Amino acid sequence: MAEKASAVQAIRKIGNWIGGEMVFPKAGRTGPVHDSATGQPCATVLMSAEEDARKAVAAAAAAFPAWSRTPVLRRARVMFRFKELIERDRAEMAALVTQEHGKVLHDADGSIQRGLEVVEFACGMPHLIKGEYSEQVGTGVDSYSMRQPLGVCAGITPFNFPAMVPMWMFPMAITCGNTFVLKPSEKDPSLSLKMAELLTEAGLPDGVFNVVQGDHVAVNALLGDERVQAVSFVGSTPVAEYIYRTAAENGKRVQALGGAKNHLVVMPDADMDQAADALLGAAYGSAGERCMAISAAVTVGDAAERLLEKLLPRIEALKVGPGTDNSNDMGPLITAEHRDKVRSYIDLGEKEGARVLVDGRRHPVTRLPGYFLGPTLLDHATQEMRVYREEIFGPVLTLTRVPSFDAAIDLVNAHEYGNGTAIFTRDGDAAREYVSRIQVGMVGVNVPIPVPLAFHSFGGWKRSLFGDTAAYGMEGVRFYTRLKTVTSRWPTGIRAGAEFSMPTM
Ligand code: NAD
Repeated sequence: MAEKASAVQAIRKIGNWIGGEMVFPKAGRTGPVHDSATGQPCATVLMSAEEDARKAVAAAAAAFPAWSRTPVLRRARVMFRFKELIERDRAEMAALVTQEHGKVLHDADGSIQRGLEVVEFACGMPHLIKGEYSEQVGTGVDSYSMRQPLGVCAGITPFNFPAMVPMWMFPMAITCGNTFVLKPSEKDPSLSLKMAELLTEAGLPDGVFNVVQGDHVAVNALLGDERVQAVSFVGSTPVAEYIYRTAAENGKRVQALGGAKNHLVVMPDADMDQAADALLGAAYGSAGERCMAISAAVTVGDAAERLLEKLLPRIEALKVGPGTDNSNDMGPLITAEHRDKVRSYIDLGEKEGARVLVDGRRHPVTRLPGYFLGPTLLDHATQEMRVYREEIFGPVLTLTRVPSFDAAIDLVNAHEYGNGTAIFTRDGDAAREYVSRIQVGMVGVNVPIPVPLAFHSFGGWKRSLFGDTAAYGMEGVRFYTRLKTVTSRWPTGIRAGAEFSMPTM
């Protein structure tokens, strides 16, 4: 029997949320959750076994018939109340993100805001889900379409945005009439429960939203469960590929958003102050743990030296420290293992022949007990180097110099990832040409992190997204619904008047 617990106990022991209440998986594997700024454990997450995941799916499947038949206006009203509750508890949510992930409070608050915007978008579902109607497509024949929910949908999310990325998914799925099972990252799982509590307080019926804590065991159970109709995944590319292949083989609809290496191209005519400021925030904000972080700067022609003149003093002046101090620009990394992996990339870059212009390994912050690493700049990175090719997912920026605009386009297009990119220039023609020719899903013109707002959709190209639809916006509505088209004819009956003779065929 699964043990039940109060939310207070769950501050220390993080369990599942199934059928509208906290449920602890049977005693089994556990994982530590750390305060990444102090390195101290702050909670224990209980890892779900396959049967725990199946219980969550069973609750979601049981809730689906009534929820999918609930008028969309009422579904949207629950989301509206959820929006108000997030606004009420926003500071608490941001503090949880800071504690478990490490990003600085102002940045954590920004991530809540970007999730909230998807909730606001989902409040408009009565309009978004409307079908189309064509009168008289044949004599006496009308045709119309509607979008209907799929059933149980699963979401599997990464550590770097424990509130925002789940909110890319479930507000859309739920207001479309689906029920949902979230498998959050085991590294920062508390936000999933906070959101579950708020959804319940908002009036969401039990079983519509469920949370299964754990790792690949829970994920594989969701992928193998015949009741799960659709899977949304956000995480690293190797796992995204696995999820995409497995879910598709099991006949599920799937979107799997993967990793990235995002280039920012600096043209010789760019405003170098602006470009340096943009690079600073985009490369080192959230300690580089953003899938839209700029990790590769590309200078065209003679731009490099003029850019470095502006950039280097700014990097040196960055304030690094615990995320609870809002005056900091950058906090720690998520775990000691991840910090060590990122640091090993700096060693590798040095071996590969890149010049370490700013060395995060020697930053005073590394003497603090948390998982800190200073900002790093590797100059003269080339296309062959692993530090240029691979996603590092930390505060490490490479700089690659190319002779021309065309060479910059070729470099970016040759990369296996195609999540985000930006060009900094004062020339409208160069910007327009870049937007047109670049093989990347999200492009910024003098905007370093071009994350689309909730009413557009988020998604990369190439090995940054597996599947046909991007996240949220109208793409989200399409992903979480299926189209039904009706052709309808009503033979003339009552309006022809009463019949008095015996009916015969
Ligand atoms: P990850 O791939 O390690 O984990 C993501 C999720 O998958 C977690 O819930 C994890 O428990 C689960 N998982 C991990 N290994 C698994 C396996 N073998 N089988 C089944 N499930 C598994 O990613 P992460 O380290 O949590 O997050 C960082 C990565 O996410 C980076 O690569 C980053 O670029 C990417 N990311 C991408 C986007 C995007 O929109 N494209 C957004 C945020 C993060």
